[in-house]
Amino acid sequence: MKQNIWTTYSEDQLRELQDITDRYKSCLDEGKTERECVELSIRMAREAGYRDLKEVMAAGEGLKTGDKVYAVNMDKMLALFRIGEEPISAGMNILGAHIDSPRIDVKQNPLYESDGFSYLDTHYYGGIKKYQWVAQPLSLHGVIAKKDGSVEKVNIGESEGDPIFVITDLLIHLAQEQLEKKASKVIEGEKLDLLIGNRPIGEVIGDKDQKEAVKANILQLLKEKYDMNEEDFASAELEIVPAGRARDCGLDRSMILSYGQDDRVCAFTSLFAMLDVTEAKKTGCCLLVDKEEIGSVGATGMHSKFFENTVAELVAMTEGESELKVRRALMNSRMLSSDVSAAYDPMFAEAFEKRSSAYLAGGVTFNKFTGSRGKSGSNDANAEYIAALRKAMDDAGVAYQFAELGRVDLGGGGTIAYIMANYGMEVIDSGVAVLNMHAPYEVSSKADVYEAVKGYRAFLKM
Ligand code: MN
Ligand code: MN
Repeated sequence: MKQNIWTTYSEDQLRELQDITDRYKSCLDEGKTERECVELSIRMAREAGYRDLKEVMAAGEGLKTGDKVYAVNMDKMLALFRIGEEPISAGMNILGAHIDSPRIDVKQNPLYESDGFSYLDTHYYGGIKKYQWVAQPLSLHGVIAKKDGSVEKVNIGESEGDPIFVITDLLIHLAQEQLEKKASKVIEGEKLDLLIGNRPIGEVIGDKDQKEAVKANILQLLKEKYDMNEEDFASAELEIVPAGRARDCGLDRSMILSYGQDDRVCAFTSLFAMLDVTEAKKTGCCLLVDKEEIGSVGATGMHSKFFENTVAELVAMTEGESELKVRRALMNSRMLSSDVSAAYDPMFAEAFEKRSSAYLAGGVTFNKFTGSRGKSGSNDANAEYIAALRKAMDDAGVAYQFAELGRVDLGGGGTIAYIMANYGMEVIDSGVAVLNMHAPYEVSSKADVYEAVKGYRAFLKM
């Protein structure tokens, strides 16, 4: 067991830790989808003096040292920049993290009635243990885009008076056959449908002729609330996530239990650091991306050209249009690709190798490599870059640890590091260790959240 960093703090540090983790918890509550995270991050950035790059360009203004801008992609991906003293082509310090989390999505023809109940048909997103998502309170978040161009926001199940939803499980008394199944089959993907109603329309007047009266009632409620028709589900993005707030965990309140800490624990701490650091030699960047959980694909994932295109705009505004300078900017950059790491769990000790595990309350985690079985698919960070990071962290008094995800022949997981490494920049996987990763509720240490913010600040000043 490595040192538990709680014992190292002064009273002042404990106050700052409390402050940061309170802010972090309220961000988790407000940002339960990638869209909500982008909206919240933009609001915080604007309060800190950031301007939309589009506004700056439309006004025909240039950018100079100290200027702060952001670029948003389809409301699901966001890049913040603070222009440094050196030209951008000399390289940036980039903090990257993802803001999508494992969840259950509503399908495009979702609404149906079955034996007096109404359901939404679903398709889960990212790697989940399906059996963890039944029999617990769920909320519905997202948007309904309509043909007239309007977009209705949906958020049901988080406010005190809101209804919530559930995916049912089979009672234990009848579960003898179910319990014989493999865990991956106990609850199957097509059985993860969301229960949303049981009350027929027209019950007051006793209309017995109404077909699928429970579904009809739901449609009427949706019409009243969102002015939507059944066909509008086709252009909706509705995400089912655990209902409720981030909570202190443990009698000593040392931990946080919440949905979505993969990877918002890295995203919000990166954002905090980005907004805190107002002066640096290098241009600072905080990049919050979508779609990591399904392979970083799509227009809002890390594989998209959005980031590169945005850097090209910035180079054009500061150093003049130059394809070569854009390439230099990317190649000369350094990045912390931040994602959660699996924390050592004594309850599942057999899955870990103790010397190379990340520990809760062990500080920021660095993974030289991720990948699986023979480092496959990993960005293997350079020793020289790691040495420079060690110095920066030590100089700033940041606690950190080096780890890998699980036992050699067992584990593995992808991040966005290898994609950015394609530009030839220095990238390392870093982040915060989490217990219960990918479960509806994940556990982080408040001390690690604090060290992450400190570590990211130090990185931006490198
Ligand atoms: Mn992740
Ligand atoms: Mn993940």
